[in-house]
Amino acid sequence: MKVQNAMFQAGPQVEHSPNYYITDHFMYSDFLCPCCDMLKIVPAFYRHVSLLEQMREKVGVPIIITSGYRCKHHNDLVGGSPRSWHLLFATDINTENDDKDKLKILCEAAVNLGFGGIGQYETHIHLDLRPEPLRWRR
Ligand SMILES: [Zn+2]
Ligand SMILES: [Zn+2]
Repeated sequence: MKVQNAMFQAGPQVEHSPNYYITDHFMYSDFLCPCCDMLKIVPAFYRHVSLLEQMREKVGVPIIITSGYRCKHHNDLVGGSPRSWHLLFATDINTENDDKDKLKILCEAAVNLGFGGIGQYETHIHLDLRPEPLRWRR
């Protein structure tokens, strides 16, 4: 795992183990770019993971991270927008067995927890912490 620490660029290099649990249910490896194992620790990263943990506890169902940080190469590969929040940090989440009812409950929880960008898709929910809230449905 290669960590680009955008938060403390001038600070000491912190060693992160990919399987280190950041919260009770989420570890660094849940959020790495799948092509290069990169993760960019932007200022909103830990708040985002903490909100996911609160969501996990509130709704009580496993949350599967289907996409976290993406390098430019991977973002292009999956057809992401050139200005995608995944290039900084965002998550796409799903439930076990593509449970649409539970996905809807997770979406309501995301709104209540104060995520910035919330995109409802057929197969996942996109979440980010943009400062101006935006909701969309595809
Ligand atoms: Zn990559
Ligand atoms: Zn997304």
